[in-house]
Amino acid sequence: MKVFKFGGASVKGAEGIKNLAKIVSQEKENLVIVVSAFGKTTNALEKVLKLWLAGEKSYKEHLENIYSYHSGVVEELFPSGNSVGNKIDKSFTKLKEYLQSEKKSEYDFEYDQVVSFGEIWSTIIIAGYLRKTGLNAEWIDIRKNLLTDNRYRDANVLWSESTDRIKAVFDFKKTPLYLTQGFIGGTADGNSTTLGREGSDYTAAILANMLDAECVIFWKDVPGLLNADPKWLNDACKLEEMSYREAVEMTFSGAKVIHPKTIKPLQNKNIPLFVKSFLAPDEKGTMVIAEPTLKKIISVFIKKENQILISILPKDFSFVMSDNLSRIFHTFIMHGIKVNLVEASAVSIDVCVDDERPKVESLLIDLKAEYSAFYNENVEMLSIRHYTPEAIARITADREILLEQRTRSAVRFVVRGIASLRSQ
Ligand code: ASP
Ligand code: MG
Repeated sequence: MKVFKFGGASVKGAEGIKNLAKIVSQEKENLVIVVSAFGKTTNALEKVLKLWLAGEKSYKEHLENIYSYHSGVVEELFPSGNSVGNKIDKSFTKLKEYLQSEKKSEYDFEYDQVVSFGEIWSTIIIAGYLRKTGLNAEWIDIRKNLLTDNRYRDANVLWSESTDRIKAVFDFKKTPLYLTQGFIGGTADGNSTTLGREGSDYTAAILANMLDAECVIFWKDVPGLLNADPKWLNDACKLEEMSYREAVEMTFSGAKVIHPKTIKPLQNKNIPLFVKSFLAPDEKGTMVIAEPTLKKIISVFIKKENQILISILPKDFSFVMSDNLSRIFHTFIMHGIKVNLVEASAVSIDVCVDDERPKVESLLIDLKAEYSAFYNENVEMLSIRHYTPEAIARITADREILLEQRTRSAVRFVVRGIASLRSQ
């Protein structure tokens, strides 16, 4: 069997969904299709949530806009009517009812209960359309089968409990085609959870792992994985092949092309990942595998914006690489802050993290109880894998380098300034 994943950009309107149906109809293998919310629906739902939590009644207008968007797509796909419209109405009513009551718990919990609707709507509509075209895709509510812990907004999959359910529910002896939601899961007691923004990639990889897929294909609006964000470097080029290791390093450094947790479940079962253009399905795209055969080395450029560089020093001048180290990192973990880069000296340690306020503020308060802590905000982390002197000069020109780290295969800089780069 194979797993196909369609992101928001590939299903942002009726055209995209028709295209999805065409791509799916050409597939002969058993298939699980994983779909994100339409277009920018997740962002729009985040806005609804924010307004609702702030007690602003205008959340209703925003929700109405999301409703119009979805019912517009339904009308275009089913001009002579269909039960899908009803199902969508019912699901929107459910969310509206939820929002009529008081907030039940903290932000992360509410986020998952509200934002998870985007994937429910997209899959209801797409399942209906596939049926209309004669493709009987069975719709699976992944919240009941992909079980997670209750770390809302960044839920951890409960692998053994989920694997049994997933294997039972995606039964290819019964039907060859399934459609389900990316990004979302559920707790054992029935609450929705999410796996982190752009988490549909991760869902596809999880399902591929559990179902022993022969491959995963991400259908995107780009021809494959590129060696840089084309909005940053306008001569970015497509990479033909890439190793799992490269891919994981790239996503960890901030490449937004795939969700950082995606590679591990694939690597663990040696499942190849193809990233292909849904506009040119016959073209090769990028293949991510254990051992690429092409040896052509191309520099890969990655920029991670909105970083904060924190310097931590034991007040009593004790060595940082002692007990201090585990205490410092424990504090980061307790605050749910992921460390992007670390550089240590005798009595200080520099740590670069995403500047997520207010999390970072409360981290700093805790650190300052025991250590001296300083920081530079508005910094960026730039990485080059397979660097050359020219590649380094290109991205560091006109920037103040606050920190530099080099290994044999990669160089990373923490820099100040957001001047956009000139292309060569
Ligand atoms: N819809 C979710 C998001 O926009 C998940 C995804 O697209 O993968 O983050
Ligand atoms: Mg997406």
